[in-house]
Amino acid sequence: MRYAEPETVEEGVTLLASTEHSRCIAGGATLVAMMNAGHIAPAMLVSLHRMRELFTLTESADGLWLGAMMSHRVVAAETRLRGAMEVVRSAAGQLAHPSIRNMGTIGGSVCLADPSTEMPVALVAASARVEIAGPGGRRLVPVEDVLVDRFKTSLRHGEIVTRILIPRGVEGAVGHHLRFSRVSGDYPTVSLSLILAMQGDTCSHVRVVVGSCGPVPLHVAAADQRLIHTALGEEDVAAAGQLLAHAASPIDDVRGSAEYRRMLIPRLLGRALTQARELAHV
Ligand SMILES: Cc1cc2nc3c(=O)[nH]c(=O)nc-3n(C[C@H](O)[C@H](O)[C@H](O)COP(=O)(O)OP(=O)(O)OC[C@H]3O[C@@H](n4cnc5c(N)ncnc54)[C@H](O)[C@@H]3O)c2cc1C
Repeated sequence: MRYAEPETVEEGVTLLASTEHSRCIAGGATLVAMMNAGHIAPAMLVSLHRMRELFTLTESADGLWLGAMMSHRVVAAETRLRGAMEVVRSAAGQLAHPSIRNMGTIGGSVCLADPSTEMPVALVAASARVEIAGPGGRRLVPVEDVLVDRFKTSLRHGEIVTRILIPRGVEGAVGHHLRFSRVSGDYPTVSLSLILAMQGDTCSHVRVVVGSCGPVPLHVAAADQRLIHTALGEEDVAAAGQLLAHAASPIDDVRGSAEYRRMLIPRLLGRALTQARELAHV
């Protein structure tokens, strides 16, 4: 296996594109485990560690651009992720455990497209956009269009995710993430990210996304609509929760049965909305 540590994204793209069975390595949190288990054997590994632009955060009128190599730990400490954008910080601070938060990166989370992870859920809730560099230049793609299936993205051979735009979102909104796991630090049985804005006691905007309940993060526009212009009463939350549970396609696994996951969705939604409302009033 060949190994390279180029200093620019363009050099990295050239190396990746010119070698069959090449992979880039970010924190190595999952990639190294997959190689050790013999699941993959790349002919060439291109490290992203020396590409300075991938570690950079920039602010723009649209929102915050997070470099793909920012670790979950760094994202969790980023206080500029406020308001609706806080959903990303909230997820980064809760996911897995400290060693994974140190190793794992925001770009790696998107590229892995593991349906049991949480960062993709928060990014879909935030309506994030992903900048991708490839042999033909750079393009900006909504995160939903990158995550196409279980462990499958729309990235082409030779492409590198360079940064992710977190839009500022609706004025006055708050973002929040909630997970339910068997024990602290385990992958979640179900996770849920939401953006919420209230006008007095009435919900004026909401976007709810559920994780670990299908091949990609689940967003159901009808569930959001069921909550908007309501006071988020028990009946409203239960009805929206049922719409989400109905649309979900969870699997049975060691972390819970599909039926259990469907049952958890409305409960997690109720809890997340209560917590987000409290945050909105701080
Ligand atoms: C034991 C364990 C527990 C975990 N628990 C959770 C959890 O509870 N919740 C959660 O949300 N996540 C969890 N994760 C996932 C973790 O947060 C990381 O996001 C994930 O492992 C990716 O790690 P990484 O960024 O180091 O990428 P790597 O492991 O280095 O790479 C992963 C894949 O993405 C590709 N890749 C990486 N970066 C880029 C890029 N910029 N451009 C193009 N391709 C790229 C690589 O080629 C590789 O195919 C867990 C991971 C492990 C190993």
